[in-house]
Amino acid sequence: MRSKSVDILVIGAGPSGCAAASYLAMHGHRVVIADSAQFPRDKTCGDGISPLAVRMLIRLNVLSQVESEGAFRIENVLIQSPMGKMNRSRFDESLGANEYALAMPRIDLDSILLKYALSSGAEAMLHTRIEEVQTDGDLITSLTAKHLDSNVRVKIQPRHVIFAVGANIGFLRRCGFTVNTQNVSLATRSYYSTSIPLPKDYALYFDEELIPGYGWVFPVANQRANIGIGVVRGRHRATSNIEMLDAFINRRVNQEVLCGVTREDDVKGYPIRSDYGTQRIAGANWMLVGEAAGLVNPLTGEGIDLALYSGILASECLHAGIGLSQPYSRLYEAELSRRFRLLFVGWRICRNLLLRRHIMDRIVHTMSVDSELRSLIVKMGLGLESPISLAHPKWLYRVIRSR
Ligand SMILES: Cc1cc2nc3c(=O)[nH]c(=O)nc-3n(C[C@H](O)[C@H](O)[C@H](O)COP(=O)(O)OP(=O)(O)OC[C@H]3O[C@@H](n4cnc5c(N)ncnc54)[C@H](O)[C@@H]3O)c2cc1C
Repeated sequence: MRSKSVDILVIGAGPSGCAAASYLAMHGHRVVIADSAQFPRDKTCGDGISPLAVRMLIRLNVLSQVESEGAFRIENVLIQSPMGKMNRSRFDESLGANEYALAMPRIDLDSILLKYALSSGAEAMLHTRIEEVQTDGDLITSLTAKHLDSNVRVKIQPRHVIFAVGANIGFLRRCGFTVNTQNVSLATRSYYSTSIPLPKDYALYFDEELIPGYGWVFPVANQRANIGIGVVRGRHRATSNIEMLDAFINRRVNQEVLCGVTREDDVKGYPIRSDYGTQRIAGANWMLVGEAAGLVNPLTGEGIDLALYSGILASECLHAGIGLSQPYSRLYEAELSRRFRLLFVGWRICRNLLLRRHIMDRIVHTMSVDSELRSLIVKMGLGLESPISLAHPKWLYRVIRSR
């Protein structure tokens, strides 16, 4: 088998891998980014780019490109409770001036991010699947890659490896990583055209039939939306996800939220991993980033923001940590833990306690009458404030007493 030495190997060219590769290449490192797919490639997703993700695109200096190539600007977050209470909050009022979200089909977003990584100096190995990892203790010594065009296998010998493989659970397990399937949900979506323009809402519907999951309507253009549902595994066995998605859309049509809806694409489903904090995410010369590290918000199923965040953080640690006495991977693990460990604990507690019929109803009602609390809940849902703050007696009192 032919062998190839590389300095930094990034496996996966989604948002986390491209963020890491762009940052490292920009800072003068030799990076190879491998992906089993041919690009442009689709990724089953809701296509929602949260305000935190927008901030990360600004940090990478790629936001203007994403916007100029057609990302759809979203001004509000709309939440509907199981009993039909509704609240619409403007991002700029809840989060601060100039805050907004975007939506863009992943086939377009990921192409822009990959092109950006390549123009920053990274080298791509596309249509190349990483199949196996060889280790010496905790150190990754080599990996076997297969070129899917020629079926030729190559042994790659990297000095550093960043795993950005998303929810490829089979591969992660083959590499010896643990995946906690208790925190895996299943999401299903398709693209739809509508006969009237859609409001610029990041719309989340916590329907009784789906809770603790939810359904979303994210406009990707004036009259085109990504519509989908995310459900917790094993809770809704009686019906298929496609039937649940159809029923979700029918409820929106009856509610007159959607008008003249026509499906434009196949319905596709994919798992979502939110198990950050239950596994090792870094070792001697390797780090897991994005969804490979279980970094997806368990309340909303959003992972693009945390993928970009962790990709940038991992590469900052690698860049700063090479040559230091403390391994860069420890820096990464510690910094990620400082930022996200409690947040994930809080999000999981919220998912188990708050995503219930009556409690959600009260919370959504309180959001519509108490602007301070509304801002806190929007920040908390988006990962910009710890959910622990909501447990303060002052807020609990205001939720209970709101009329
Ligand atoms: C239906 C659905 C809806 C969602 N909606 C949203 C949303 O609206 N907003 C949001 O923020 N998040 C959403 N998410 C989550 C989001 O899609 C992911 O969290 C995000 O894509 C993670 O980015 P990533 O870079 O970590 O991994 P990915 O985007 O999954 O990229 C991983 C890449 O690795 C490659 N790869 C995998 N294994 C190998 C291998 N062995 N060798 C080579 N290449 C490999 C894959 O081909 C892929 O290109 C949704 C998820 C689903 C399933």
